[in-house]
Amino acid sequence: MNRHLSYDDVLLRPQYSDIESRSEIDVSSDLGKGVLLRVPVIASPMDTVSESTMASAMAEGGGAAIVHRYNTIDEQCKHITMATIREGSPMPNLVGAAIGVSGDYLERARAVYEAGANFLCVDVAHGHHRMMKESLSQLRAIFGEKIHLMAGNVATLTGINDLADWGADSVRCNIGGGSICSTRIQTGHGLPGLQTILDCAQTDRDVKIIADGGIKNSGDIVKAIAAGADAVMVGSLLAGSMESPGELLYEDGCRWKVYRGMASKEAQLKWRGTYSSLEGVSSRVPYRGPVADILDELDRGIRSGFSYSGARNLKNFQAKAEFVQQTNSGLVESRTHINHRNW
Ligand code: IMP
Repeated sequence: MNRHLSYDDVLLRPQYSDIESRSEIDVSSDLGKGVLLRVPVIASPMDTVSESTMASAMAEGGGAAIVHRYNTIDEQCKHITMATIREGSPMPNLVGAAIGVSGDYLERARAVYEAGANFLCVDVAHGHHRMMKESLSQLRAIFGEKIHLMAGNVATLTGINDLADWGADSVRCNIGGGSICSTRIQTGHGLPGLQTILDCAQTDRDVKIIADGGIKNSGDIVKAIAAGADAVMVGSLLAGSMESPGELLYEDGCRWKVYRGMASKEAQLKWRGTYSSLEGVSSRVPYRGPVADILDELDRGIRSGFSYSGARNLKNFQAKAEFVQQTNSGLVESRTHINHRNW
């Protein structure tokens, strides 16, 4: 059995740098076909993360959000229209739209495209699947090469290669790593998140890698990029923002927002009135204020990360970055540990 690493198992070796200011560093990432991110962070297509307000805020902050598909086609289109039309601005916001692989997905794809979505995300839990192949082939037949198609999720090199061959421009990589995900417990399947990126980065296809799920902080984003990701997708890091859907909760003397997996009982009951296989949980996350502040903090962390490897941009960083594996004592030392010390 091979050893498989996750984010906390590794660190990046600090290297010589001649970078004097973080402003010299370019963290942008071009995913192709007009999907250009100034900050390589994408908000997950989930009903407690990405609707119109999140999509506008993410686009304005240099990232992007994918408006979720757990609603009627009309509702999803309204969110896209609200997020993309910016009065007085020559450029519409960059906004993605999620679709599925069955039912009304082709009608939805046409409608969200007409509503202004700049890219589509074929959003299913197990993307290495015959229905994904059929869906990508139908979408290419309708749209040709004029739109960026993101697809997923997969966990293996064969998975990313197949999705690329079937027509995906970018692939969400990681199965079972999300903070609200119980897939690995329910099904016994999945692979540690960082290893998935290391494996998928072996692809020889022209496809971009989205590290999706399990990203806890900017350090994990830096590690995902070092492993080969072109961008990360995050839910929990943005679910506590002002712009995520849902009301503020006041509990235990703090402010919170609900954050739940789309395969949780609560989310399934909301969008289809019933539930089947439960592979997610519903939880709450602390309120964290505006998305702009969260993105700024992540952006600063990524820039600092590149500078510790002496790299000025994403490709340069990927070429230079060197992983080392850390022990459990190393992980304890890596976290702030003053409060656990015996004086
Ligand atoms: P987080 O950033 O660690 O919170 O993970 C977010 C990611 O979890 C999403 O982008 C999805 O890939 C994944 N996800 C969303 N809902 C579920 C679920 O119910 N079960 C498993 N994975 C989920």
